Amino acid sequence: MGVGFVDSHLHLDLSLFDEDRDSVVSRARQANVVAMLNPGHNLESSRKAIQLAERYAELYAAVGVHPHDAAAEEPRGEEAIRELARHPRVVAIGEIGLDYYRNLSPPETQRRVFLKYLRLARRLNLPVIVHCRDAFEDVCGMLEEVQAGTPALQEEKTQALRGVLHSFSGDESSAFRLLDIGFFISFSGQITYPKSDSLRSVARELPIEKVLIETDSPFLPPQPRPGRGKRNEPSFVSHVAEELARVKGLSVEDVARITTGNVRRLFGIGPEIEAGQIAYRIRNSLYLNITNECTNACVFCRRQTNPVVKGHDLRLDREPTFEEIVAAIGEHHGYDEIVFCGYGEPLLRLEVVKQVAQFLRGKANAGETPALLRINTNGLANLVHGRNIVPELIPLVRNFSVSLNAPSAEEYHRLCRSRYGDLAYEEVKRFIRECREGGASVIATVVAVPGLDLEACRKVAEEELGATLRVREYDEVG
Ligand code: SF4
Ligand SMILES: [Zn+2]
Repeated sequence: MGVGFVDSHLHLDLSLFDEDRDSVVSRARQANVVAMLNPGHNLESSRKAIQLAERYAELYAAVGVHPHDAAAEEPRGEEAIRELARHPRVVAIGEIGLDYYRNLSPPETQRRVFLKYLRLARRLNLPVIVHCRDAFEDVCGMLEEVQAGTPALQEEKTQALRGVLHSFSGDESSAFRLLDIGFFISFSGQITYPKSDSLRSVARELPIEKVLIETDSPFLPPQPRPGRGKRNEPSFVSHVAEELARVKGLSVEDVARITTGNVRRLFGIGPEIEAGQIAYRIRNSLYLNITNECTNACVFCRRQTNPVVKGHDLRLDREPTFEEIVAAIGEHHGYDEIVFCGYGEPLLRLEVVKQVAQFLRGKANAGETPALLRINTNGLANLVHGRNIVPELIPLVRNFSVSLNAPSAEEYHRLCRSRYGDLAYEEVKRFIRECREGGASVIATVVAVPGLDLEACRKVAEEELGATLRVREYDEVG
C-alpha cells in the first residue's frame, strides 16, 4: 500500500504502556502507521508526551488539560502549557473539552479551563483536539464563541480556530455543525461496534475530506481485534479505516491516503501530499490527469483553488507528455476503468488522448484484460478544434461522461462561464448527440448546485438526448 495510516489520537504516555512501549511502536510501524499524535491530559502527561515524541520519530505531541483534570490544574498551569507548546514536536493544544457524563471536575471549572485553552490555541495559531461527552451544546457554543473572537483576539489578528472533535459519537446535525465551525471529525474504534449503526450513517454522510481516524489507545479497542475490554494500540487503526472504507464505498487505500492528507492539512504532520499526480487511483479505477487548462470556469470547480481529489493533488506545473502518462500508468492492470479526467478538459489535448487510448487498446490486444476506457469532458472540444472530433474518438473510446450541468443555455452560462459564451450549451448537447449517434454510451452529468432543477436536467439528458443522467455531489470528482 502507498501512503500509510495516521493514528491521530492515542495516549502512549499512560502507564499501561510502560512494560512494552517499544514493541507497541514497532508493531505500529509494521502495520504501516506513519505518524501518531499523543495529546496530554494534564501538565505531567503533556511533558511525558513530549519526551516520547522526542524518542519515537513517528510520534508527535499535543499539550493541554483534559476536562477530567480541570479541577486539579496547577496554579500556573496555563503558563507552563504555553511554554511546552513552543517545543518543536508539539503540534496542537489538547486534549481539552467538556465531559458532563463523568463530571470528574465541576462543569463550571471545565468550561473555564476549556475556554482558556481555546483562546490560547488561537493566540498560538495551533489547532485544538477536543473531547466532548454529553456536552455538545456547550462545546459547540464555546467553539463558535471563540471562533467569532473577542475584541482582544481580533485586535491581535489571530488566525481562525482549527481543530478536531476526537472519537466523535454524536448525531448528524452535530457533525455538520462542527464542519460549519471549520472542524474535522475523528472516528475511533467505536465505529466498528455492532451497535454503532447510527454513527456509521453519520460517517456515510460526512465528506471524507473532513474525517480523521484514531485509536484513542489504550481505550476503545476496535472489533474484531483486539476485541472489547482489551488494551487498544495504534497498530489497530487499520480496523477503523476498514470500517470507514466499507461505509463510504472506498478502498482502504483511499481512506488511508485521504485521512492522512487531512492530518497533514490540520496538524502539518505525516507525509506531504505529492503534487502533480498524472495517474491516480480511486477505488479500482485509474484516472488520468491530462491538463489543468479548460475552456470554462465553472463556479463549482476547484481547478484553480484547490485541485485535490480524494487525497490526490492534481495541480500540474506543466502538462505531461505521452511518455510520462504511459510511465505513470505503469505496469498495473486489472482496473475496472481507466478514465481521462483530472481538473481540466482532457480533449484540449486531443492528440495525446488519442495516443494514450491507442496505447491502452494495444495492451488489451496483447492479451491484457482490457479496462473500460472513458473520457470525462465538458463537450466543447469541437469548438476548440474547429471540426467534429467524435469520429476520431469513437474507434478508441466508447464511453463518455459529458458535463451537461444545466437545463438551459442561461443556466449553463451562469454556472459554467464558458469562453464560448452563448454558443456553449447547444454545443454540449450537439456533442452528446454525436457520441450517441456514433454508438457510444453517454452519461450526462450535472453538479448538484443548490437550487438547480435536477428534474429539468434529467428531461434534457434522457428525453432529448438519449443519455443517462448522473448527478454529482457538489464538490466531488471521481
Ligand atoms: S468544465 Fe470541468 S474542469 Fe472545466 S471549469 Fe468546469 S468543472 Fe472545471
Ligand atoms: Zn483522548
